[in-house]
Amino acid sequence: MNCEIIAIGSEMLTPHRQDTNSLYLTSRLNALGVPVAFKTILGDKRQHLVDAARIALSRADIVVFSGGLGPTEDDLTREAVAEALGRTIERNADVLAGLHARFATRRMTMPENNARQADVIAGAEILPNAKGTAPGQWIDTVHEGLRKLVLLLPGPPGEIKPMFDEQCVPRLKAALPERYIARRTLRLAMIPESQADARTAPIYKQYNDVETTILAHFGEIQFHLHTEQTSLSMAQERVDELAGRIEEELEEFLYSSQGESLEEIVLLLLDMRGLTLAVAESCTGGMLSQRLTSVSGSSRSFLGGAVVYSNQLKTAFADVPPEMIEQHGAVSRQVAQALAEGIRKRTGATLGVGITGVAGPTGGTPEKPVGLVYLALSDGRQTEVKEVRTSGDRERIRYYASQQALDMLRRKLQV
Ligand code: ATP
Ligand code: MG
Repeated sequence: MNCEIIAIGSEMLTPHRQDTNSLYLTSRLNALGVPVAFKTILGDKRQHLVDAARIALSRADIVVFSGGLGPTEDDLTREAVAEALGRTIERNADVLAGLHARFATRRMTMPENNARQADVIAGAEILPNAKGTAPGQWIDTVHEGLRKLVLLLPGPPGEIKPMFDEQCVPRLKAALPERYIARRTLRLAMIPESQADARTAPIYKQYNDVETTILAHFGEIQFHLHTEQTSLSMAQERVDELAGRIEEELEEFLYSSQGESLEEIVLLLLDMRGLTLAVAESCTGGMLSQRLTSVSGSSRSFLGGAVVYSNQLKTAFADVPPEMIEQHGAVSRQVAQALAEGIRKRTGATLGVGITGVAGPTGGTPEKPVGLVYLALSDGRQTEVKEVRTSGDRERIRYYASQQALDMLRRKLQV
């Protein structure tokens, strides 16, 4: 069971207007267990509409049209869909009377054009429009041997939303077989997408009934699992089973199995252990602090820190010896370590983090190229230092460094 949404209106092919109706329809359809397999946006050209309707009827079980039901010459959805279905159009007397009445209550005579809004495709059920003039149409039919549901809905968002919720959702519920959806999101840090996929493909390929999507973003991988079954317990069971096997395979990289962010997990772990954290950030310029403080309740464990961009401030705020910077350079293992230890002592935090690196695009050298970052994590007894080399633009490198720092914290706290 799948669906195609066809949004009609030349304005949505310009840079000025977006097709937001299809987002709304997609959320409602998904909630009913219907995936949207195709979206098409079209201008108001009759032949394009007929072609798109034919294609949609050949590949989707449910076809939802949005727009083009108005009274003007360029509102062609009714005619085009009738042509694609090989049906006639009839002017419906009840709808016409309703249109006249609507204008009459406003003390207006109805323009001749508006009568077109009473044109109904033969065999369609009429969906009254509580917020406007054009009624929608619901067609439950067999087309070339297959059952199809075809919906014609008005374009204005204020009309299509109530019409879909109040009239289409109950009809769809009655028409669709009962389906139950279960979803899970697994989040992993610091594993390349190709590796995550190579290691899990042999597992998830055994679950044909669970859709597995892998998304990658700057040092983070997300597995989105989605299934539809005839009972809720079955849907939950299938997703849980696959999630469990992926978790087992990639355990060391996994930080969240219910969708929480890495910063949320780190703060949760700090809080559970009653530990506090302070950071000294150079190349990330506060990004790590920003990510941590974006989580509500972070003040329980995150004390704060310093943005120590210049060499002077590395010394003034985190006690990095000037000779050390002179000898090894600001981007070095030694300076990262000194930053972590210095900020920890200065603030009295249990844990200190130091970050220094070359974010680029300028400032790289053959020995210290753009993308080289040193990170350190100190607990007062020992300091772990990590060297990472990444690539990409400045934002990506900085985000990746903050991600790496959070992952070091997670690994230390999760044992
Ligand atoms: P009308 O009687 O208003 O002409 P209609 O059913 O013909 O109704 P359209 O002419 O296609 O609808 O669109 C009317 C209004 O709704 C326009 O302002 C248009 O930009 C907006 N609209 C149409 N389709 C969409 C869409 N897919 N997403 C968001 N807005 C839309
Ligand atoms: Mg219109």
